[in-house]
Amino acid sequence: MATLHDWLAQNADTLDQSESLSDEVMPALAAHGSFRAGVPLALGGEPGEYGDVRDAILGIADVARYSVTAAFVYWGQRSFIEYLLQSSNTALRDRLLPSLLDGSLAGATGLSNAMKFLSGMEPLSVQGTADGDGWRLNGKLAWITNLRPQRFVAAAAVAPVDGSTPLVAMFASGDDGVQRSDNLQLIAMRGSHTAAVRLENVAAPADYVIAEQAPEWLARVRPAFLGMQCGMSIGLAAASLDKASQVAAAARGQLGEQIAAAQQALKALTAQLLDGVADGRFVTAAPSMFKLRIALAELVQQAVTLELQAKGGHAYLVQEEDGFARRWRESAFIPVITPSITQLQAALAKHAAATQ
Ligand SMILES: Cc1cc2nc3c(=O)[nH]c(=O)nc-3n(C[C@H](O)[C@H](O)[C@H](O)COP(=O)(O)OP(=O)(O)OC[C@H]3O[C@@H](n4cnc5c(N)ncnc54)[C@H](O)[C@@H]3O)c2cc1C
Repeated sequence: MATLHDWLAQNADTLDQSESLSDEVMPALAAHGSFRAGVPLALGGEPGEYGDVRDAILGIADVARYSVTAAFVYWGQRSFIEYLLQSSNTALRDRLLPSLLDGSLAGATGLSNAMKFLSGMEPLSVQGTADGDGWRLNGKLAWITNLRPQRFVAAAAVAPVDGSTPLVAMFASGDDGVQRSDNLQLIAMRGSHTAAVRLENVAAPADYVIAEQAPEWLARVRPAFLGMQCGMSIGLAAASLDKASQVAAAARGQLGEQIAAAQQALKALTAQLLDGVADGRFVTAAPSMFKLRIALAELVQQAVTLELQAKGGHAYLVQEEDGFARRWRESAFIPVITPSITQLQAALAKHAAATQ
C-alpha cells in the first residue's frame, strides 16, 4: 500500500487542480488491487478484513485521506462493480468483471438521478422504448464521473415510455448513439474524468439490463452505494483531524479536547455505518442511513474547520501549505455528492410527515 499512498500524496493537488493525471488514477488504484476489495474471492476479489463491501468502504476512506478525487474515481468504479455483484444478470457480471477489477475498463455510475427518483424528487432522465427483448435508450445524464474517454461502461435508471416499472441498464462508450461531452470544467476534482452523456436511440439488449425492477433493486443497493460514498467523508475527516491534532499538540493545545471529541465521533459514526451496512438494516431503515450520511458530512466541515483553527494564520502561508487548501476545497464537494445533503433533508422531512 505504501506505493499507492506515495503516489497519491505526491499527486493529490494535481488531481484536484488539473486534468493532466486523469488517465493515471485508475491504473494506480488497480495496481494495488483497490477494486477487488470486498469482492467475493471466487469472483476475483482479494481477502480483506470483512470480505464484503465494508472492505471497499474502508478502502475508499483510506484513499480519501490523501485525495478525494482519487477516492471518487474509486467510488465510481467500485459502485459499478457492486451493481454487477448484486445483479441477477450473471452473464453480464462474468463478462465485465475481470476488466473492471483490473482497471482496464472504467465503470461509471449515473445513478444520482435514479436515487433522487427513488426518493420521489425528480423524474428519470433516460427513457426506454421496448426493442425486441431489449430497449432503445434516449436521454441525458448531466454528470458522470470516471468516464475514461478510451473505454467505459455506465449504469443508468431507465423509465419505459409505456409507463411500466423502471429498470437499470448499462451502456458502453463504443455503442452507437452514446455521446460523451468534453470533461466538465470543474473548480476542483478535475482529474476525475467527469462529463455529461447524451443517449440517442442507443440499443440496450437484454444482456445490458442490470436490474429489471429498478425501485426494489435500488433500495437494496443503496446501503452499499451510500456507504462507499460515506467512505470519502470518513477519510477526509480523518486526514483533517490528524493534521489538526498534530498542530494542536505542538502548539498551545487549546483545541485538543474538541479535536479528540471529533475523532471519537468519527470512530462511532464509522462503526455505526459498517454495522448497518453489514446487517442489512439500512435496506428498510433508509432514514437512519440518511442521518448517518448527514452527520458524517457535518463532521467533515467540523474537521476542516478545526484544522484551520489549529493552524491559525499559518494555514494561509504558501510555504507551509501541506494539503489544507485542497482539503478545504474537497470538503465543499461532500454535501453535493448524491444524494446531496439537501436531498436527504427533503427525504427525511417527507418521511417524518408520512409517519406522523
Ligand atoms: C464533480 C462532480 C461529479 C459528479 N459525479 C456524478 C456521478 O458520477 N454520478 C452521478 O450520478 N452524479 C454525479 N454528480 C452529480 C451530483 O451527484 C449532483 O450534484 C447531486 O445529486 C446534487 O444534485 P443537484 O445539483 O441537483 O443539487 P441538489 O442538492 O439536489 O439541489 C440544489 C438546489 O435545488 C433544489 N432542488 C433540488 N431538487 C429540487 C426539486 N425537485 N424541486 C425543486 N427544487 C429542487 C434544492 O432545494 C437546492 O436548493 C457529480 C457532481 C459533481 C459536482
